Amino acid sequence: MTFALTVLGSNSAIPTANRNPTAHLLNVNERFFLIDCGEGTQIQLRKYRFKIQRIQRIFISHLHGDHYFGLIGLITTMQLLGREKELHIYSPEGLQRAIETQFDVSGTRLKYPVYFHSFSTQHTKKIFEDESVAVSTIPLKHGIGCCGFLFCEKPKQKNIQKEAIAQYNIPLEAIHKIKNGHDFTDENGNVIPNSELTLESHTLRSYAYCSDTCYDEKIIPLIEKVDLLFHEATFLDEMKERAKETLHSTAKQAATIAHKAGAKRLIIGHFSSRYKDIEPFMKEAKTVFENTELAIEGKKYEVRQEEINMIS
Ligand SMILES: [Zn+2]
Ligand SMILES: [Zn+2]
Repeated sequence: MTFALTVLGSNSAIPTANRNPTAHLLNVNERFFLIDCGEGTQIQLRKYRFKIQRIQRIFISHLHGDHYFGLIGLITTMQLLGREKELHIYSPEGLQRAIETQFDVSGTRLKYPVYFHSFSTQHTKKIFEDESVAVSTIPLKHGIGCCGFLFCEKPKQKNIQKEAIAQYNIPLEAIHKIKNGHDFTDENGNVIPNSELTLESHTLRSYAYCSDTCYDEKIIPLIEKVDLLFHEATFLDEMKERAKETLHSTAKQAATIAHKAGAKRLIIGHFSSRYKDIEPFMKEAKTVFENTELAIEGKKYEVRQEEINMIS
C-alpha cells in the first residue's frame, strides 16, 4: 500500500521563478488528497503528471491567499475536463463565500457537485475518515484561524492463520471477531490470545502537515511520534524576531518541534522568497533534528512499511 507525499509548492506568499506557493499531494493507497492549493497548483499537478480528476478531497489550512488562490482555477479546469463526480473541500469558515462570489460574477454554473465543509480552528477534530485513512485538524497559532492536518492510516482487519482454525476448532461465527482483534475461548474455556491466531498486521503510517504557525509547543501532543512531519520554516533563525511578529517559524524552531514530538522524519518548507539558496535551512534544522529534508517541488517523500518497522 502506497503512502507518499509529493510537494507541489514550497514557497511562502510571494512565488519565485522556481518556487511556487504551498500545495502538497498525499497518496494513501491510491487515494489522492490535495493539501492547500496555492496559485498555480493545477499547473504543478500537470507538470508532475498527476491526474487532476482523481482528487476527490481538498484540505485548506487557512484563508491566506498563498494557500488557496489556486482553487478557483483548479475547480474550473475540473469542470472544463467534464468532471461529474463530487469534490469535497475542507477549510475554515469563509471559503465557500470566497469561491462562490468568483463564480457568481463570472456567471459560472458548476455541473458537478462541490461540497464545502468548514471546521473550527480552535480545537482538534476528526473531519474525515474512510476505510483506510482518518484526517484530524491540528489547531495552529497564526494571524488568522489556521489548522494543520494529521493523516493516519486506519487498521485493517487482521488475517487469521489457517492452521489455527483447524488446531483450535474455531467455528465460523468466531472468525469475524478474531479478525477484529478479539481473543478466542475454546470449548474447554481456554483463552487463546489473538496474537497466536492472526498474522502480524502492518504498522500504521501517519503524516502531519503543520501549515503557517509561530513556534507553538501546544501542537506536540497532537503530532507525537508521527512518521512524516511537515513543519513550516519561513525564516532562518537569525530572523526569529521577524518570524515572531509575522506568526511564522524558523528552521531551528521547526526542528525543535520535530525533536520534541519524537517525529521520525521532518520536511521543512514555506520558504520566504528573500532566500535564493535554501540549503542553509537544512543545515540549521539538522543541528537540532538530523532526519530533516527540504521541501523540493516534484519530489516524492514515501513512507515505506519496512522503514517504520526498522525505526520503531
Ligand atoms: Zn503561507
Ligand atoms: Zn498564512
